[in-house]
Amino acid sequence: FAQLQATDPEIAGVVLGELERQRGGLQLIASENFTSPAVIAALGSTLTNKYAEGYPGRRYYGGCAEVDKAEEIGIQRAKELFGADHANLQPHSGASANLAVYAALLAPGDTVLAMSLPHGGHLTHGSKVNFSGKWFDIVSYGVRRDTELIDYDEVRDLARQHEPKMIICGATAYPRLIDFKAFREIADEVEAWLVVDAAHFIGLVAGKAIPSPVPYADVVTFTTHKVLRGPRGGMILCRAELAQRIDKAVFPFTQGGPLMHVVAAKAVALKEAAAPAYQAYARQVIANAQALAEGLAAEGMRPVSGGTDTHLALIDLRGLGVTGQEAEARCDAARITLNKNAIPYDPQPPMIASGIRVGTPAVTTQGMTETDMKEIAGLIGRVVRDTDGSATREIAQVVDELIRAHPAYPRP
Ligand code: PLP
Repeated sequence: FAQLQATDPEIAGVVLGELERQRGGLQLIASENFTSPAVIAALGSTLTNKYAEGYPGRRYYGGCAEVDKAEEIGIQRAKELFGADHANLQPHSGASANLAVYAALLAPGDTVLAMSLPHGGHLTHGSKVNFSGKWFDIVSYGVRRDTELIDYDEVRDLARQHEPKMIICGATAYPRLIDFKAFREIADEVEAWLVVDAAHFIGLVAGKAIPSPVPYADVVTFTTHKVLRGPRGGMILCRAELAQRIDKAVFPFTQGGPLMHVVAAKAVALKEAAAPAYQAYARQVIANAQALAEGLAAEGMRPVSGGTDTHLALIDLRGLGVTGQEAEARCDAARITLNKNAIPYDPQPPMIASGIRVGTPAVTTQGMTETDMKEIAGLIGRVVRDTDGSATREIAQVVDELIRAHPAYPRP
C-alpha cells in the first residue's frame, strides 16, 4: 500500500476512503460481503500479469504451468463442494456467466421463461435493456399477489403455452427458498433446459444451510462475491454432457483471456467455504436475516411473503408512508447502507420504490448475531421515521458502537 501511496496518492486515497466507509457503517446490501485477507492477497497478486486464453493443459499461451495449477485446484474444489460434474471458473461476472449460458444453449430469438424483474428477477433474465431481452423472446413469471411466493401454477401454464427452450429460476430479491424439483418437473414436461441462477444464495448452498439446485438443474450459474464471500466474479456448474458447450461459450465465444488472479481468488474462497466454520457462518446468516425481518416487522415494516428463509428480506414500507428512496437516504445519513427495492406489484416507479432490501452476509462476517439484528432493526425503524433528520446523529453514534464491537477488517 505504501507503494500505491507513493505512485498514485489520488487512487490510494480512494482505496483508503472506501476501506473506512466499509469499516465505518453497517453494510446491509444483500449482495455484498467482506472478503478475507487471503482472497484479497490472491486478487492483488502477479497472477494478474498472465495471459491464459484456453483451459488448463490447453492454452493459447506459453508459461501457463503455474496458473494452470490454480485453475485446476479451483475446478476440483468447486466440483467437490457442490457435487457438480463440471465447473467453469472463468466468467468475469454473474452477467457474463449468464451470457455464456444463453450462448451455449440457445440461438437468438429462442423463447426463455424467466422471473419478471419487478418481482425479483435479474437484468439478465429478460430486461429490455439487456442482451437477454433484446436478443431472446422472454416470457415472464412472477409471484402471487396473496402469498408473494413464486406462482408454480403460472410457471407451468406459461411453459405449456409457450414451450420455452430454457427456463431460468433464481432472483435478486426473492427471500424464500425456490422449489427446484417443481421447476425440474415443469422443464421436463416441455423439454426445456433448466438453468438456476444461484448468484444470491449459492453461499448458503456451499454452507449446507439450504437445499442445492445442482441435482435438479442442467446448469447452475452464480456470482462468487455475495454470501460465498469470494472475489467479484462468476462461475458455472453443469452436467458432464454440457461441459464442452459451456466452456466454449465462455471462451472463445463471450470472453478472451481469463482473469487468473480472480480465478485463484475464487479457488481460495472455495477452500474457505468448504471449512466447517463456513457452515456455521451460513446458518448464522439466515438466523440473522430472520431476526432482522422480525425486528423490522415489530417496527411496522412488513416483510414481503411474511419473512425469509435466506440471507435477505424484502421490506414493504407502505405502512409507514415512507418510500424506499426516502428510507435509503435516511439510513445512509446514519451510515446504515441498504438499497431501495421494488416490492411485487409496486405502485411506485423503480427509482422511488415502496420497499427496501436488507441482507446479512456482511454483518454476519463481522460476527454479529440475532441480538445485534434486533438492535439494528430498532435503529432502522427510528431513522426511517425520522423525517427531519433530528435523530440521525444519535443513531449514527449507536451504529459506531455496534461496529466498534464487531470490526470489519480490524486495525493492526
Ligand atoms: N444474477 C443474479 C440473480 C444477480 O443477483 C446478479 C447480481 O446481482 C447477477 C446475476 C449479476 O452479477 P454481476 O453483477 O456480477 O454481473
